[in-house]
Amino acid sequence: MADLTDRAVALDAEHADTDLRDRFRLPEGLVYLDGNSLGALPAAVPEVVADVVRRQWGERLIASWNEADWWGAPTRVGDAIGALVGAAPGQVVCTDSTTVNLYKAVVAAARMRPGRRVVLTDPASFPTDLYVTAAAARDAGLVVEHVAPGDVPDRAAALGEELALVSYSSVDYRTGELWDLPAVTAAAHAVGALACWDLCHSAGVLDVGLDAHGADLAVGCGYKYLNGGPGAPAYLYVATRHQDDFDQPLAGWNGHAAPFTMATDYVPAPGVSRGRVGTPPLLSMLSLEAALGAYDGVGVADLRARSLSLTGFFLDCLDALVPDAEVVTPRDPARRGSQVSLRHPGAYGVVQALVARGVVGDFREPDVVRLGFAPMYLAHTDVLRAAEQLRDVLAAGEHERPEHATRATVT
Ligand SMILES: *Cc1c(COP(=O)(O)O)cnc(C)c1O
Repeated sequence: MADLTDRAVALDAEHADTDLRDRFRLPEGLVYLDGNSLGALPAAVPEVVADVVRRQWGERLIASWNEADWWGAPTRVGDAIGALVGAAPGQVVCTDSTTVNLYKAVVAAARMRPGRRVVLTDPASFPTDLYVTAAAARDAGLVVEHVAPGDVPDRAAALGEELALVSYSSVDYRTGELWDLPAVTAAAHAVGALACWDLCHSAGVLDVGLDAHGADLAVGCGYKYLNGGPGAPAYLYVATRHQDDFDQPLAGWNGHAAPFTMATDYVPAPGVSRGRVGTPPLLSMLSLEAALGAYDGVGVADLRARSLSLTGFFLDCLDALVPDAEVVTPRDPARRGSQVSLRHPGAYGVVQALVARGVVGDFREPDVVRLGFAPMYLAHTDVLRAAEQLRDVLAAGEHERPEHATRATVT
């Protein structure tokens, strides 16, 4: 025990450069391991949102569309997100939800690959990705094949020119496994297909390298590790080389080439702006913009190093304190996102009992305790405390208490 404490303190000293907790407002004493579901509140956000509401809206009213460049927010915020996922400016637009953006991306991809009939996706995907990929495929005349990420190269080679698109998450939302984005993308390209990536669990915590690895399309949300706040808008990446051909199905006036001519016919805007649809949720979008300031002056590669140190140390703490824990997240750092998930038959109660002890994670069906490690505001001492609390919950059987069995609407 003493040596785990010593190690936590030493690791925190070693990683002092990336300790950005003072850029966030978190309740005292809480160990928040759910930043992969709803990121913490960045300290700069309340003041910015208050200014947007009181001054930009309350005093300047409609003038703010020009004065505060509300109109330009989707591409301005998009570029800021792009910087975190390895996308050069002009390729990311902040808009809509991940679900809606994935619909646009899959249909547009089908239209870019006419005559090809198959889209590959992961059977273990986040449900909305499965639902909307199926819906988009139906609307675009594609068939969906469910293939695990590791099997994509073989299946893509077998399908050859039948393959239109591979659409995958770069990190599995449940297990935290990090998939091989470069290899899957290359396998799609080898047969002339496109690759679309869902970055919900990777943006902001690891080097995604969209441009470097030749990704074609990507989507992701703004309220997880990007800390944009509840319901913050999502984003859509369209590589420059595809933008002229990006014919997305939700033709809306915000994506028009000349929206204020009020023309009766739709002409898509040049560039990634054609990914826009209707009027953006500006309170949320400007909250997200302010939140991204928490990344100022820090490289994602440095945050990745901190994240791997946190999750690696957590695994060591589990080995020492909870040796029976069934870890479902890969121990190989090259295959690990920024979370550690455990399987336990009483997972729901375990999560509730941890919350009661000030360690917030979440439960995912059917039996997963999911603990996310947002590197900017967590320290190794927090990690050790989480492992100690888990040990104590399990030792005392607290997860079996009736008050921890009642399911809330959101788990
Ligand atoms: C969080 C998450 C979503 C959320 O989609 P919304 O449209 O924002 O509700 C989608 N896909 C994945 C993989 C996620 O992790």
